[in-house]
Amino acid sequence: MVHALNLGQGGAGRGLPQQAVLATMHGKEAALAPAFAGLGVDLVIPDGFDSDRFGTFGGEIARTGTMEEAARAKLAAAMAQTGLAAGLASEGAYGPHPVVPFLASGREILVWRNKATGQEIVEEMLDAQPVYDHMEAADLDGVATLLARVDFPKTALIVAPASRRTAPIGKGLRHVVELDAAIRLAVQQCPLAKAFVQTDMRAFMNPRRMAIIAELGRKLAARLATACPNCQAPGWGKLRSETGLPCSGCGLKTDLVACEVHGCTICGAQSQLPRRDGKAEADPSQCQFCNP
Ligand SMILES: [Zn+2]
Ligand SMILES: [Zn+2]
Repeated sequence: MVHALNLGQGGAGRGLPQQAVLATMHGKEAALAPAFAGLGVDLVIPDGFDSDRFGTFGGEIARTGTMEEAARAKLAAAMAQTGLAAGLASEGAYGPHPVVPFLASGREILVWRNKATGQEIVEEMLDAQPVYDHMEAADLDGVATLLARVDFPKTALIVAPASRRTAPIGKGLRHVVELDAAIRLAVQQCPLAKAFVQTDMRAFMNPRRMAIIAELGRKLAARLATACPNCQAPGWGKLRSETGLPCSGCGLKTDLVACEVHGCTICGAQSQLPRRDGKAEADPSQCQFCNP
C-alpha cells in the first residue's frame, strides 16, 4: 500500500472519506495524490492491481463498453480488493480528431465514487494536442520524424509488425538500441517488411498524458471542495452542457451550447449557468436555418 502525505484538513470535515482507492497500475498516483491530499483524502493503491485486464492502449486487450463503464469496472474491482468504500478511476481514449482527421485528440475522464453516500461524479478533460502518433517504417532511420514529433525518449514507443499492429514486440521503449532491435524484429515478422511504431499511451510512459491527468485531478478535487448550496454535500459542479443557443438572425435554436447545467449528484439540486465566454447568441453562419 502506498499512502500520500496528508497535508490538508481531515477529509471527514468536508463530508469526504479519509481514504480512497485509486484503481491504477500506471503510476497515476504521482499525478493525482497531491490534489487529493489537499482535500484530506489519502489515495491508496491496491497491491498488484492489474488494470490492463480492463483493456490496453496497444490493443492486445480490447476495452469493452464506454470509457465510463470501463472506469466503473476498474473501480469496483479495486474497491472489492481493498475493502475501501470510496475511490477513483481514470480512463483515457485517443484517436483521430472527430472533425479534422489528420489531427489527434484525446479524452480523459476521472470517476469518483463514494459508496457511503451513493455519490458518483464524472469529470472530463479534452486534449486537443495529445502526444499520440504512429507511423510505419522499414528501419530506425524511417522513424526519425516521429521521434522528433513525440519528444522521444521522454515519450516511450510501442513497436509491432505492420501486419499485426495489436501484437507488440516491444512496449515502453525509451532507448534507441532497444527501439532499433524491436523495429528489426518487427520487419522480419511482417510480410510487407514494415514495423508499426506508435506512442505508448500508458500515463507513466507519456508525460503529456500524465500532465493532463494531473490537471483533471485538480479539477475534480476543486469540485469535491465545492459544497452543494442545497444539501452541503461535496461535489457541486458541471453535470452537462445544453445546446440551443439562439441565432441572432432568425432567433431559432442552433446546435451550439446555450448553457451549462451545474448540480449535485446527491440531492439532485441543479442550476443553469450562461456560457463561460458570455456568448448569448449564435452567428447566422452557424445556424442550420440561415445557412443550411
Ligand atoms: Zn445537494
Ligand atoms: Zn438563423
